[in-house]
Amino acid sequence: MIVAIDGPAGAGKSSVAKACAKKIGFKCLDTGAMYRAVAWLAVQRGIALDDDAALGKLADGCKIEFRHEDGNPIASGISIDGHDVTEAIRTTEIDKAVSPVSAAGSVREAMVDQQRRIGDAGNYVIEGRDIGTVVFPNADLKIYLTATNEERAHRRVRQNADRGVGSIDYAEVLEDIIRRDEADKNRGNSPLRPADDAKVMDSTGIYIEDIIESICTYANIVQEGGKVE
Ligand code: C5P
Repeated sequence: MIVAIDGPAGAGKSSVAKACAKKIGFKCLDTGAMYRAVAWLAVQRGIALDDDAALGKLADGCKIEFRHEDGNPIASGISIDGHDVTEAIRTTEIDKAVSPVSAAGSVREAMVDQQRRIGDAGNYVIEGRDIGTVVFPNADLKIYLTATNEERAHRRVRQNADRGVGSIDYAEVLEDIIRRDEADKNRGNSPLRPADDAKVMDSTGIYIEDIIESICTYANIVQEGGKVE
């Protein structure tokens, strides 16, 4: 079974996906981390971020691995071609580089292939931008999680502060969120949008725990063969 959680930057997808996966006993896949890892490698190799052919070759040939400690279904880290990039992919530099890299059709093809292979192998909560529309259009449950720009920026600042990486300047984070949303929504390949059959959840002013609770309830309904209205 696949639970797809899509939505714009900072909507709380990661925390919600991890918590839901833990509660319902599913594995969890952060597809944004995969695009960030490719962007990191492209920057390291000095590849021009508008060189689709070179980016595609890089994405095709690289090895992305999630680290699972003691069999924990929630990954605690990510590496690309043997480099642990868990923290390096959360910097302001990668926040900027990831938009052009993820807009390249060749990169998306390579990532979608890997994501389908991973998701086909078990019960997964998968978070991203195009999971319900492109990667798993037949996902059993589709959530589109959103919140106002301001709420998302506040959350991202708190998250960066907790992680100790990335900007904690509210104005800078807000600008980055708005810029990335625009890029993600307006690109030609797999633009960010809710799937027609997604449940749209606006988490503005709502406790994230309540969102988690609702999604787990929906997942249980679907698992028992019911339909989420
Ligand atoms: O989820 P996160 O904010 O870490 O994603 C980083 C970037 O990766 C997004 O801004 C988007 O450009 C890209 N992305 C994507 N498709 C996905 C997941 C992320 O294009 N499924």
